[in-house]
Amino acid sequence: MDVLKQILIIILAICFVVFVTFFGRLPALKNTPMAWLHKLIWVYIPNAVLRIDQTLTSGRVTGSLAWLYRRLMYDRHPTIVIFFLLIMTVSEYMYLPAVLPRISLLAQSTALVTVLMPYVFLYLACSADPGYITRENHAYHMSLYPYDYALFHPGNECRTCRFLKPPRSKHCDICKRCIARADHHCVFINSCVGYGNHHWFLLLLLSTCILVTYGGLLGLCLLTAKIREDYPTFTLWPARDMDFHRYLAIWGWGLHGDIRMGASTLLALLTAPLIWALFLYTLFLVYCGTTTNESMKWTDYKEDMRDGYAFWRPLAPDRPRNRRLEPPCPRWPSSPEHIILTTQDAQPPSQERNFAGQGEWEHVWDLNDVDNIYDMGFLHNLGDIFFSNYTFGDGTGEPLTERRPRGRSISAKSGYPQ
Ligand SMILES: [Zn+2]
Ligand SMILES: [Zn+2]
Repeated sequence: MDVLKQILIIILAICFVVFVTFFGRLPALKNTPMAWLHKLIWVYIPNAVLRIDQTLTSGRVTGSLAWLYRRLMYDRHPTIVIFFLLIMTVSEYMYLPAVLPRISLLAQSTALVTVLMPYVFLYLACSADPGYITRENHAYHMSLYPYDYALFHPGNECRTCRFLKPPRSKHCDICKRCIARADHHCVFINSCVGYGNHHWFLLLLLSTCILVTYGGLLGLCLLTAKIREDYPTFTLWPARDMDFHRYLAIWGWGLHGDIRMGASTLLALLTAPLIWALFLYTLFLVYCGTTTNESMKWTDYKEDMRDGYAFWRPLAPDRPRNRRLEPPCPRWPSSPEHIILTTQDAQPPSQERNFAGQGEWEHVWDLNDVDNIYDMGFLHNLGDIFFSNYTFGDGTGEPLTERRPRGRSISAKSGYPQ
C-alpha cells in the first residue's frame, strides 16, 4: 500500500505540474490562482533556487540545468516524442495481457483500434509538413487568408526567411522556418502545429483522450469486478456505512492483486483530465476561429485597448491595393472593415505615415467591438482545418459574402480567450 500511495502521489504531482505548466500561461486564466501557481513553479521557485546556487556553486548547477531545459524545450529533437511513446507503449504492454483475455471479442477489437489510433495520428502529426513556407509555395500561402489589419498587416518581411509574411503565419525559432497559419510549436510532436497538420494534431488529442478514458474505465470495471469476487457488497462509489480508510484499503488490496493493470489504469485515469482539457481548449480555439499564436496577440491588444494605446479607422473594401504586398484572396468570404494599430505614446498614429484606411483615428477601447475575420463559425472553421483550400459555399449558389460580410464579432463569444 505504501508503494502504491507513493506512485499515486508522484503521478498526481506530475499531472498537476504539467497541468499548471500548460494552462497557467493561458490568457483566459490571467489573474487566477492557476496563473499565480504557474509563476510560483516557473518563476519564483527557480529564482530562489538560482540565488541559492549562486551562493553555493557560483551558478554552476543551475547553469547546467538551464542548458538542459533549453535543449529539451527549444531545440528540435525527438526526446519528448520518445518519452510519450515509451509511456504509452509500456503502459499498454502492462495493461493489455491482463485485460484482453477477460473481455469479449468485440471489446478486444475496439480496444485494439483504440490503442492503434494514437500511434497512427502521432506519426501523421509528426511527419506531415506543418505548413513550411518556401519560395516555391509562398504565393499560394499569400493568397490563403486576407490580412486582417489588426494582428496581421501587409508588407512585413520575415528577417530570417527574407520574404513577406503571409497572413496568419509565424516564424518558428525552433523549426527555423515560417509556418502557415501557425498555432504553436509542440514538443510532443517535435514540430509546429500549423496549416498542414492541425487536423492530425486534433485527431491525436482526440484519440489519446479516447484511449485514456476507455482504458481507465475498462480497467476500473475489471478491478471492481475482481474485488467483488471477495467483497460482494463493494461498490465503486463508497457506500454510506463504509469507512473511507477501509474503502481505500480494499482498493489497495485490489490493485496489489493486479499491479500491472492497476498502475496503467491509475495512470490513464489521472492523465485523462489533462488530455481532455488540452483537447477541449484546442477545440475551443477552433470554435473561436483563432490559433494559440493569435489568441496571445489578441490578449496583448486587449491590454493595449484598455490602456488607451489602440486606435482604429475605417478601411474601405474597394480601396486600391498593392497586389504584390496584398494579393487577392478569393477563397475567404470576410474582409476587414477597420485598420487597428497601437502606438507607443497613446497618441493617434502619425498622419505623415502612409497607413491604410481613411478618416480620423479613434480610440478602440474594447476587444468586444472588434471583428475576427478569421472566424467563420465553428463548422466552417473546422472545415478550414480539415480540408486544404476549403471553400465556403453551402450549395445554395449564394456566395457567403452576401449573407455574412463580416467575421463574427469577438463579443459573440463570451468565452473568447481574453
Ligand atoms: Zn521566417
Ligand atoms: Zn516549430
